[in-house]
Amino acid sequence: MHTYHTPLDLVRERSPERPVAFARPDAVAVAARWFQDKFQGDVFYAVKANPSPWVIEALVKNGVNSFDVASIREIELVAQSAPGARMAFMHPVKSRKAISEAYHRFGVKTFALDTHEELGKILEATGGAQDLTLIVRLAVVAEGASYSLAGKFGVDLHEAPALLLAARRATQGKMGVSFHVGSQCMRPTAYQAAMAQAQRAIVRAGVMVDIVDVGGGFPSIYPGMIPPDMGDYVDSIQRGFAEMSVHEETELWAEPGRALVAEASSVLTKVELKKGDALYLNDGSYGTLFDAAHMKWPFPVKLYRGEGDDAHEVEGPLKPFRFYGPTCDSIDHMPGPFWLPDDIREGDYIEIGMLGAYGVAMSTNFNGFGEAEIVEVKDAPMASMFGLAGRVIRLPREEQAEERKVVRLSRPKGAAGKKRRRR
Ligand SMILES: *Cc1c(COP(=O)(O)O)cnc(C)c1O
Repeated sequence: MHTYHTPLDLVRERSPERPVAFARPDAVAVAARWFQDKFQGDVFYAVKANPSPWVIEALVKNGVNSFDVASIREIELVAQSAPGARMAFMHPVKSRKAISEAYHRFGVKTFALDTHEELGKILEATGGAQDLTLIVRLAVVAEGASYSLAGKFGVDLHEAPALLLAARRATQGKMGVSFHVGSQCMRPTAYQAAMAQAQRAIVRAGVMVDIVDVGGGFPSIYPGMIPPDMGDYVDSIQRGFAEMSVHEETELWAEPGRALVAEASSVLTKVELKKGDALYLNDGSYGTLFDAAHMKWPFPVKLYRGEGDDAHEVEGPLKPFRFYGPTCDSIDHMPGPFWLPDDIREGDYIEIGMLGAYGVAMSTNFNGFGEAEIVEVKDAPMASMFGLAGRVIRLPREEQAEERKVVRLSRPKGAAGKKRRRR
């Protein structure tokens, strides 16, 4: 991977015609170390958030050597980029072939399930293996998520006790529970509340669990979505865990995806046309901007203009713009608002920040677009939950109060909440 000091250096060196994705392995490193340090349990990275080999490698280098995978392709990716890493197959619905290959070919022993039927499939496809770790995915009622994951997966709490009991009886290995409070969870207490629900199901089943897996959902910062301090999330989990009747050896797991990688990538796009407040770009909803289109999330932006040594960042008075992507599909529209200098014009470059999670990972080749080159950069992300940002999200004046809040929130908390690591 080619390295530039900053995105502007790349614009200076060669005005790129196609979108460029920036990789910041240092930002992954800081997030990984934060979770290692502050989360009192095992961290499994949810590979789907960003399966790039440079991400997997940066995580492993910084102590995250466990991965939440959902397909054989993801298992192969992890096996290639992180040989010997621990994997947990956390998709509650798997093909028999995938289960069998995961177990026999890749040595995966941990499987999630949310039905008796899936439990049967796992037992049969592994040839009645006795060394399985079985995780029962619960459907919890959670508030505060920007991206709900309820509905598709998880056993209802009133049906959970029977499934917990069946899973407990099915393995000589470990058995646990998991849930997902929903992605970009803005409320730390959602975890403690979900753990209380898990606790009730466990008590009703009359079983002991060896693992409590609190899933993903840890937030990142986007304009208009400024979450509480990340420390509040691990504190809520710690409180929830302390209130559960688990045994001394019960392990606490988490599966962060977004929080580990969101800051680590941004994308450089080129303005092909300006039509009023609409900017037509060479990247869009079929490329790296899925959430900007379908969730209508406004992402932070910077503007670069000029070629060679003349290339520079443009500041100027800001105006709200919306984006259209390069495909002929009219849903390829990102409403924003994206705050950019009002004299923005064709040929300018827009760097869109905070696209490390569910951004580069979602790109398709629809309509002949979508291929983004990846280069490494050394500058800070546009905003940070981990005190990394050299500058914070650029917001219009009326939202400057929010901007100050970002600065405050992104400062790492002291040693508060540091307790004995419980395994
Ligand atoms: C997507 C997913 C995650 C990661 O969620 P984030 O919101 O990105 O942290 C974790 N666990 C499971 C089972 C998932 O499907």
